[in-house]
Amino acid sequence: MCRQPCVKDVSLQSQSKCGVCEQIQTDPVSINCGHTFCRQCINSYWSHSAESGDFPCPRCRKRFKTRPVTHPCSNTEESM
Ligand SMILES: [Zn+2]
Ligand SMILES: [Zn+2]
Repeated sequence: MCRQPCVKDVSLQSQSKCGVCEQIQTDPVSINCGHTFCRQCINSYWSHSAESGDFPCPRCRKRFKTRPVTHPCSNTEESM
């Protein structure tokens, strides 16, 4: 759901801050609720919260029973 191309130099995209580290997202991924985070941050966040058995969004607190698929904004040939 990334309409805008992800650029490295995001001086204009002040809204694209990560909800975890509150920095400009380095490797932005979007999850099922539509929020975006650094891939590193959301993985780290879930690795800590996974003990409770679900995966909450750090932003809207929406909980997922299963680990949401992260969709990379960048269109690379990375096949998982
Ligand atoms: Zn982050
Ligand atoms: Zn969310």
